[in-house]
Amino acid sequence: MLKPQYSFIVPVFNEEETLPELYKRVSAVMDQMDGPVELVLVNDGSNDRSLAEMRVLRQRDSRVCYVSLARNFGHQTAVTAGLNFIQGQVAVILDADLQDPPELIPEMVGLWQQGYQVVYAQRSRRRHAGWFKRLTAYGFYRILQRLSDVTIPSDTGDFCLLDRQVVDLLNAMPERNRYIRGLRSWVGFRQTAIRFERDSRFAGEVKYTLRKSFALAINSILSFSQVPLRLATYLGLLSASFALIMMFVVLYWRLFSISPQLVGFSIITIAQFFLGAVQLICIGILGEYIGRIYEEVKARPLYTVSEIVGLSNTEDNRRE
Ligand code: UDP
Ligand code: MG
Repeated sequence: MLKPQYSFIVPVFNEEETLPELYKRVSAVMDQMDGPVELVLVNDGSNDRSLAEMRVLRQRDSRVCYVSLARNFGHQTAVTAGLNFIQGQVAVILDADLQDPPELIPEMVGLWQQGYQVVYAQRSRRRHAGWFKRLTAYGFYRILQRLSDVTIPSDTGDFCLLDRQVVDLLNAMPERNRYIRGLRSWVGFRQTAIRFERDSRFAGEVKYTLRKSFALAINSILSFSQVPLRLATYLGLLSASFALIMMFVVLYWRLFSISPQLVGFSIITIAQFFLGAVQLICIGILGEYIGRIYEEVKARPLYTVSEIVGLSNTEDNRRE
């Protein structure tokens, strides 16, 4: 078989119901492409029939390849694994649940041919998403934008096209806590967006639980901003000014002897709690960063692989 030009990466975690439909829609797009395509399914430790489904697809179509991770490592890591193994000149990352319409890929490729190295899809509307998801997502992207040192475009998901140059750079990044949307912006080059309306999930449950989404949000902020660390300084300055003001208040009471003892006690107690809280918050923030440093230093591999089918083992490219 010819070396693929285009590699489609799909992270899969318990998607037995969506895989056949995914294949149907993606293979229709694959047939339209102007070069050989590989569909790289990354099984992120599914415990349903997803892997069996992948084997069936592989038998039916040799363009389907898969990597099976030895357990559930999470979406971002699954995508990273996909990026490590693909052979094409162009990578396209899309979700398995058909929320990212594969029919947009030719348009993205068109922009790539015009010289863009990164083409990301931006949601113009979230159809059928609940108000809670919309509100938290909206707030999160704005906060991230204010805090982070690189501009990470709002309302983009992982659905994107990446040129080989960018893929190689991402693969060379040794960091463990991978927020792909951030890293993708960080590399620079010519980037552009296409707008689309995000459909609802084709079938099955949302695999990003509230906990996973929250962890991803915290991760993205800590990986791309040092503002929280500076918060300690600001809070320190704030409580120092409080202390100064209180000093004058006490002095005033002393001089004009209008100091009912009780007020004094409450002020001391409140101040103590306030300072305690400030200190604990700061220690917590420090802890978050130190925990991440610890993880980086341990330098464990990002994931473990139990099976690779249809892909040459390019694990050597992987920096660990
Ligand atoms: N996914 C994964 N590992 C996980 C969670 C999710 O590989 O631990 C995959 C999942 O199969 C899907 C994609 O990541 O292809 C996005 O997940 P989901 O649709 O549940 O999240 P959302 O649409 O809310 O971003
Ligand atoms: Mg989804």
